[in-house]
Amino acid sequence: MPLYQPVSFINGQWEGAISGATFDVINPATGDVIEKVADLSAAECVKAIDAAQEAFPKWAVLTAKERAVALRCWFNLIHEHAEELTHLITEEMGKPLTEARGEVVYGASFVDWFAEEGRRIYGDVIAPHMADKRILAIKQPVGVVAAITPWNFPLAMITRKVSPALASGCTVVIKPSEDTPLTALAVCELASRAGIPAGVINCVTGMDAPAIGRVLTSDTRVRKVTFTGSTQVGKILYRQSAESVKKISLELGGNAPFIVFDDADLDAAVDGAILCKFRNAGQTCVCANRILVQSGIHDQFVKAFTARVVTMKVADGKTKGSDIGPLINADGRAKVEEHVKDALSKGATAICGGHIHEAGPLFYTPTVLTGVNTEMRMASEETFGPVAPIYKFDHDEEAIALANDTRYGLAAYFFTEDLSRTFRVYEALDYGIIGINTGIISTEVAPFGGVKESGLGREGGPHGIEEFLETKYGCIGIKP
Ligand code: NAP
Repeated sequence: MPLYQPVSFINGQWEGAISGATFDVINPATGDVIEKVADLSAAECVKAIDAAQEAFPKWAVLTAKERAVALRCWFNLIHEHAEELTHLITEEMGKPLTEARGEVVYGASFVDWFAEEGRRIYGDVIAPHMADKRILAIKQPVGVVAAITPWNFPLAMITRKVSPALASGCTVVIKPSEDTPLTALAVCELASRAGIPAGVINCVTGMDAPAIGRVLTSDTRVRKVTFTGSTQVGKILYRQSAESVKKISLELGGNAPFIVFDDADLDAAVDGAILCKFRNAGQTCVCANRILVQSGIHDQFVKAFTARVVTMKVADGKTKGSDIGPLINADGRAKVEEHVKDALSKGATAICGGHIHEAGPLFYTPTVLTGVNTEMRMASEETFGPVAPIYKFDHDEEAIALANDTRYGLAAYFFTEDLSRTFRVYEALDYGIIGINTGIISTEVAPFGGVKESGLGREGGPHGIEEFLETKYGCIGIKP
């Protein structure tokens, strides 16, 4: 039985567009059309909200344990189908198979974690302010949730939202990226096989994201919007959600600084920078966008880092040993090209790369740039590609000021062996996530999220489920 059908998943049924319209899902490595997927109109999206609204009271009334059993079954099925999901992710998104495999495990870990967290939703009994009163605060699910997700982690960005929503008793309408709807549909099919009832999880496929977004944000039955994507679209959804005062979580863009101090362990810093910069061909929100290296270690770092970068294999994600797959689409490639061109025109030097790779039109050669400064576009914008710009600094204060000089505040990293400096810099960086002597920070057990224009709310960890709960205060009058 196939893992998905190329249509929307609404109320436990596969639903095509009434018009019969479809859109192409393209393998970015080859340019081949993998699938033609139903292109639903915004009006058809209302059916998914209807289904989620109808399913909500029945799902919410279950015990946390009953919901946990279903989630646990979903987790097991994701693992049973890990190889199919891995190949699907690589086909529609392009990342190397090893990374896609890692995403399946990472994505499934949220299902497992929140199956457990759902059983630990506690309220409070508060000391009353009067002798004849008793005060409670209970937690209840928000209601219908709209989850709008990006293409760069087509599985994990869904489970990171849907698992806490379902565990807390909410029902969900997913709107995946038009670039990667297939993994989303496969995940819904597995949820259905796991016994998660019809209407609890719905997935709407369509090309007209702004129109679908307007339906999801204007329908008063949707009580929560959870979005991962660009800051630009996040702001639109924030504004639209204000009209009906929805609860909202926004996981938006980043401009991560990666600071290497003179006293860093050089090998560890190079390892960290390679992982942090080049994972997913640099298309992650937490990947190093600016590498800041202190003058005493700068030349050594550039040499050791570049020696690793030039050995990276650029190839279709399905090719054995591929380190760098294609960029997602022509727009993504254009942005990378423009950023590099801009930096070179303003005085940067390409130590390696700086051009399209012969593997195909969407492949970009891993690039190291030195002599980068704050006048260049890549200093203030997300490049979202395999380009490592290196800035030189002299003092800690200078590094911190440079690092914080951005409207973003998602992830930041630094490498040092000095304990006092560790605390000083950790506290001074204006970011939601700090990696210290490591380039990999994502895990289901920790609160992931940004400050400033990188977003609102946290996903993962004990904090992740709070986003899907309301607190209801009860004041009970008693006879003394
Ligand atoms: P995007 O263009 O903002 O799209 C994200 C999602 O929003 C897609 O499903 C997209 O649909 C949809 N969308 C686009 N315009 C919309 C609108 N007006 N109303 C409602 N939905 C709309 O971002 P992306 O290019 O897919 O993803 C890359 C961005 O995501 C980067 O900035 C990255 O940093 C960020 N990101 C952040 C995190 C985090 O946790 N903070 C994680 C991953 C990625 P279509 O694709 O169909 O247009």
